[in-house]
Amino acid sequence: QNTGDEILKVDSVLMQFGGLKALNNVDLSIKRGTIHGLIGPNGSGKSTMMNVLTGIYIPTAGNVLYAGESVVGKTSSDIALSGIARTFQNVQLFGEMTAIQNILVGLHHTFKSNMVEIALNLPRYKKESQEAYARAMALLKFVGLEDFANEEARNLPYGKQRSLEIARALALDPELLLLDEPAAGLTAPDIKELLRIIRKIRDSGITFILIEHHMDVVMSVCDTVSVLDFGQKIAEGKPAEVQADEKVIHAYLGT
Ligand code: ADP
Ligand code: MG
Repeated sequence: QNTGDEILKVDSVLMQFGGLKALNNVDLSIKRGTIHGLIGPNGSGKSTMMNVLTGIYIPTAGNVLYAGESVVGKTSSDIALSGIARTFQNVQLFGEMTAIQNILVGLHHTFKSNMVEIALNLPRYKKESQEAYARAMALLKFVGLEDFANEEARNLPYGKQRSLEIARALALDPELLLLDEPAAGLTAPDIKELLRIIRKIRDSGITFILIEHHMDVVMSVCDTVSVLDFGQKIAEGKPAEVQADEKVIHAYLGT
């Protein structure tokens, strides 16, 4: 199916938790190769949207089309394998594993070896392991972590843990990368490094949905921004337009 420029379409999504409409008939259209910002006050439904897009929640109504095909009802792992990778609002690494092991976990899905080949370390498994190791090192290098490969994830500075999560998401070789508040808790130099990494990934052709609170981050990298408030989309457009929008200002001021 030819979906043209549109990689992801969110069509009238309703996500209800009891009486609460965490998402209330939200539409989104994400264009291939762009960075699409998703902003809004706390509790406005941003993370819920991520969870709907990645199969953690099944929407009460509405549809999500990825490359023209509905993802609703698919498992999270099937959605990930089909090309949508993510990071979480709270860092979710294997703390006691090294940085490179955290990435290797994400690469195992590419292995074709069977259990016997793995158990006996037969040639195909040996070759696949070596290739995975090389690829994991390349991903660490890509995010500037090549010197931290053998550090336990929990011992990395917080900013580097964030970078490691992004590298792990990239191990899935995604077309679409969802980042949930990647700049939260980062220092100014860390944010600069994050922006460098995001731009580098964008330049490699990957599309982003970026949930972010830091307006300077949103303003500097997003092509389009959608604004949620109480589960509804209240504004959409170029970052500067959205920032000047009365409804958006009111939503953030809570008036
Ligand atoms: P944001 O990421 O924009 O801060 P969330 O998407 O996390 O907001 O939450 C939106 C609303 O949905 C909040 O009121 C939150 O309490 C509610 N919510 C999110 N997930 C659940 C859930 N699993 N069960 C009940 N309520 C939820
Ligand atoms: Mg959130």
